[in-house]
Amino acid sequence: MARSRTIIIAGAGIGGLTAALALTRAGFRAVILEQAARLEEAGAGIQLSPNATHVLFGLGLAERLRPLVVAPEAVRIVNGAGGHDVVRLPLGQTAQSRYGAPYWVIHRADLQAVLAAAISESPDVTLRLGTRVADFAIHQHGVTVAARDAQGARDEQGVALIGADGLWSTLRTRFGDRGGPRFGRRTAFRAVVAASHVLEEFRAPVTGLWLGRDAHLVHYPVRGGREVNIVAIVRDSWHQAGWSAPASANELAPHFAGFAAVARALIAIPDRWQKWALFDRPSGRPRQQGPVTLLGDAAHPMLPFLAQGGAMAIEDAAVLAHALEHDEDIARALRAYEQARRHRVARAQRAARLNSWGYHLPGPLGMVRNGVLAAMGGEKLLRRYDWLYGWRPEQQV
Ligand SMILES: Cc1cc2nc3c(=O)[nH]c(=O)nc-3n(C[C@H](O)[C@H](O)[C@H](O)COP(=O)(O)OP(=O)(O)OC[C@H]3O[C@@H](n4cnc5c(N)ncnc54)[C@H](O)[C@@H]3O)c2cc1C
Repeated sequence: MARSRTIIIAGAGIGGLTAALALTRAGFRAVILEQAARLEEAGAGIQLSPNATHVLFGLGLAERLRPLVVAPEAVRIVNGAGGHDVVRLPLGQTAQSRYGAPYWVIHRADLQAVLAAAISESPDVTLRLGTRVADFAIHQHGVTVAARDAQGARDEQGVALIGADGLWSTLRTRFGDRGGPRFGRRTAFRAVVAASHVLEEFRAPVTGLWLGRDAHLVHYPVRGGREVNIVAIVRDSWHQAGWSAPASANELAPHFAGFAAVARALIAIPDRWQKWALFDRPSGRPRQQGPVTLLGDAAHPMLPFLAQGGAMAIEDAAVLAHALEHDEDIARALRAYEQARRHRVARAQRAARLNSWGYHLPGPLGMVRNGVLAAMGGEKLLRRYDWLYGWRPEQQV
C-alpha cells in the first residue's frame, strides 16, 4: 500500500492495537512502534462495558472474545463492613437488551492476545517491538517519527502519527504539556487467583463492589470463570511514577481491617499482588498540531473508579478511524476527532473522580450513600449510565 496511507501509532496498549485494527478497516496501513520487547499485559482483569464491546464487535472480534469472557449478571454493591448487599445493578441480558451489546469482563492478557492475533493476520499492520518513539517532525508530506530500537536510531514516515503511549506519554510532553499526571491519592492492588480457591460468592458471574471507609474492593471471574480477578483500591500516599510494583497482602490488610471477615479472607488468598499508584490529568488536551494526535490514556487518563479508561481508548479508535475515513485532509480529520471526543471523555474523567470520593466515604456519610443507592434501586442506577454504555461511534462524528 502507498506510503500516503501509512499511519504510525506509538504504543501497543489496548488503545494502539484497537486503533490499528480500526484504521485498516478505514483503508489505511498502520505501523505500531512499541517500546516493550514483548507484548505483555498486567496480570489483571478489565471490564468491557457495552460502549467498548460494541466497537470490538464492529471490528469482527466477538467470536474470538466470547470463549474468554464472563458476562456478569449484575454489579453487586456490598456494604464492606457488614458484608450485606446494598443494591444489585442488573447487567447480563438487561444490559445486552438495553445497550445492544454485552457487558463483559476479561483477563487483560486475553484481550491483548485477541487484538494481537487480529493484527498479526492483517497484511496492513506492522508491529515493531522494542522500538521507542522519541520525537517527530511535521512536514508537507506528513510526519517523520524518530525512534530507537536495539540497532540504534530509526526514522518512520507516515501521513499521521497517533500517540497511544499511555499515561506517561512522551508525545504529550512534546506538545508542551509539562505538567505531568495528577496523583489521585489512591493505590490499586491487583491479583488473579484460581476460582477453586475462593468462596462460591466470589466465583459467581457477578461483579462485586464492596464499599468501605477509604477503601473498596472489586472482584469478578475471568478466563471463562476459571480465575477470579481481585482489585483493592485504598487511600494512600505512595505515588511512585511508572506502571506497577510488587506488593504484599500484609501491606493491604490494615486498609481492610473494618471490612467483613469474608472480604478480609478473600484478600488474604493471593500470594502475589501488584500495585499501581493512580493518576489522572485535568480534562482537556494540549493543542495538537497537523497530522499528529493523542489517543487513550495519553490524551485523557482517568481514575479507574468508572472502569472506563480502556473503554474510552477503544471508543477513540473507532471515532479516529471514522474521521480519517471521511475526510481526505488528515489534519482536519484529526481536529474533528479531538473535538468529537472532548466532552465525552471529560465527563467520564469527572464521573470517575466523583466516584473516587463517593466510594470511600467514611461512617455516617457512607451509610447515607448506601441508603440512597438502595432507595434508587438497581434499574434506576443502571439508567444513570445510559449516556456511557449506550454510546455509539456514529453519534460523535
Ligand atoms: C486498577 C485499574 C483498573 C482498571 N480497570 C479498567 C476497567 O475495568 N475498564 C476499563 O475500560 N479501563 C480500566 N482501567 C484503565 C485502562 O487500563 C487504561 O485506560 C488503558 O489500559 C489505557 O490504554 P492505552 O492503550 O491508552 O495505554 P497503555 O495501556 O498504557 O499503553 C501504552 C503503550 O505505549 C507504550 N509506550 C509508552 N511510551 C512509548 C514510547 N515512547 N514509544 C513506544 N511505545 C511507548 C507502552 O509500553 C504501552 O504498551 C483500569 C486501570 C487501572 C489502573
